[in-house]
Amino acid sequence: DSVIVWFRNDLRLADHAALAAAVKANAKIFPVYILEDTVAGGRELGGASKWWLDKSLKSLRSAISQRGGKLICRKGDAEKILRDLIKETGAEAVFWGRRYTQPEIDRDADIKKALKDDGIEAKSFNTTLLTEPWAYKTTSGGYYKVFTPYWRAVRGNYEAPDPLPAPEKFDGIGIDGDEIESWGLHPSKPDWSKGFDEMWTPGEDGARERLQDFLDGPIRDYEEMRNRPDEDGTSGLSPHLRHGEISPATIWRAVMGRINRGLKEEESAWSFLSEIVWREFSYVLIYHNPKMGRENYDSKFNVMEWRSSKKDLERWQKGETGYPIVDAGMRQLWATGWMHNRVRMIVASLLTKHLLLNWTEGEDWFWDTLVDADPASNAAGWQWTAGSGADASPYFRVFNPITQGQKFDQTGAYVRHWCPELKKLPNKHLHAPWEAGRDVLKKAGVELGSTYPKPIIAHKEGRQRALDAWETLKEKQ
Ligand code: FAD
Repeated sequence: DSVIVWFRNDLRLADHAALAAAVKANAKIFPVYILEDTVAGGRELGGASKWWLDKSLKSLRSAISQRGGKLICRKGDAEKILRDLIKETGAEAVFWGRRYTQPEIDRDADIKKALKDDGIEAKSFNTTLLTEPWAYKTTSGGYYKVFTPYWRAVRGNYEAPDPLPAPEKFDGIGIDGDEIESWGLHPSKPDWSKGFDEMWTPGEDGARERLQDFLDGPIRDYEEMRNRPDEDGTSGLSPHLRHGEISPATIWRAVMGRINRGLKEEESAWSFLSEIVWREFSYVLIYHNPKMGRENYDSKFNVMEWRSSKKDLERWQKGETGYPIVDAGMRQLWATGWMHNRVRMIVASLLTKHLLLNWTEGEDWFWDTLVDADPASNAAGWQWTAGSGADASPYFRVFNPITQGQKFDQTGAYVRHWCPELKKLPNKHLHAPWEAGRDVLKKAGVELGSTYPKPIIAHKEGRQRALDAWETLKEKQ
């Protein structure tokens, strides 16, 4: 028997339900990756995600060839490619891991039906989440719209199943495929990815190492340090999870292993697991609200009078807003493809509140620049900050970028690293350079409006404008 295993957002060999099913069937396994044409309503991967995909596929290709097989890579219409491959390989079945956003759900359903009509076994599995988005129901039978009770349900019920073994042998030799290099996933002219190489090792081995490093240290202080961009307090697992190089169940098992062996900082470990479950919760929300990726979850926001300003948007994108914590975040994002969660909230708040720009503009930029750009978590994160989401931070809660900076970048190391032109400012003025006296600025070599921008809008004014927009919105209901 032969089975085609179609890899998508699950670029790994270990703990992969579709692969494990093929092993169990004692079949010859033909591993396939398809760079799909985007269908109507679909979204092309952003630049940073393409960079990651390129490296991740090469890592998978090499792991498969070490097991005697070949990762067959093709580009185009998935259904047609699968049909061709069925003919070429003689496979009787196609297995894959599920996707949960539109239009992928519909596309996969169509493909499944078409293959079944042809007498091919087509089976999908959960390869990317702890549990399916429909697994937990509230007492009234609906899905969870609030995080805390959802977290309680998962924490109280979920048990990670035993890990699934990776196949020992693959096939695919002799079947034509594209060279991944020919797909142009890696940026050229200009190649902006130097900082990415320094920070990341895409692929299954890189993911495993990240987890190990995190378990060896930062997990102990996670609860305290997770909000501190000036400390390396989080796991950095997000792009690995996004591309499925590690399963969330593997992470769960490893963390529970520590807890069961008596980890002193047990609450810290649970706090980390709750973040893993935020990712699940985002999938619950988007699965039940397929339009949430582009539209307000809370339709009240449909009449919000967003501003439109290309200039302001560009200053925000480039990290030239004049608010150091915001600029540091936006520059970290551009240089490394990642931004600390606390800072994501601060920059998103500035965009949607002080600048009164629609969250979708920020979501688009993140989509293009994040290596972990995820259709569920990105939309959920933006809508949470903008106030339009389920269980969201209310719109009238406007983050103060100055006090947020002072509180969470206490040492100032984060701003000094990403905004080196402010390096010599004393901590007292680092997060609000315009409040420093002339002498202080001069001594630090800072000239506002020249070496570093003046604030894009005064905090008080931006805050008031946001609150006024909120009042208008409420009046319109
Ligand atoms: P850790 O703190 O180590 O957390 C472990 C894992 O839990 C993460 O890898 C991630 O998979 C998950 N996680 C943590 N926080 C969240 C959260 N708030 N929501 C969902 N999952 C979470 N995360 C993405 O993976 N992709 C995105 O596109 C994305 N966009 C965001 C946009 C905005 C505006 C905001 C406020 C948050 C966004 N997040 C997104 C969530 C969060 O910022 C990142 O998951 C986190 O910073 C990743 O770093 P880490 O792996 O070190 O996290």
